[in-house]
Amino acid sequence: MMPRGVAKSDLPTKICAACGRPFAWRKKWARDWDRVRYCSDACRGKKASGTDQPARVSS
Ligand SMILES: [Zn+2]
Repeated sequence: MMPRGVAKSDLPTKICAACGRPFAWRKKWARDWDRVRYCSDACRGKKASGTDQPARVSS
């Protein structure tokens, strides 16, 4: 039985740029899905401080 009509497996998924694990679409990303690169705020924080720009650390 499918009470809601939408299966979880229908949700789009991506690979987290920080931890490399697949993660599924979330409602809070509905507007920003194309830009989402990390599975969580924690992973986003690992890469750069709040920005999605590629980190160029040359020190
Ligand atoms: Zn992650």
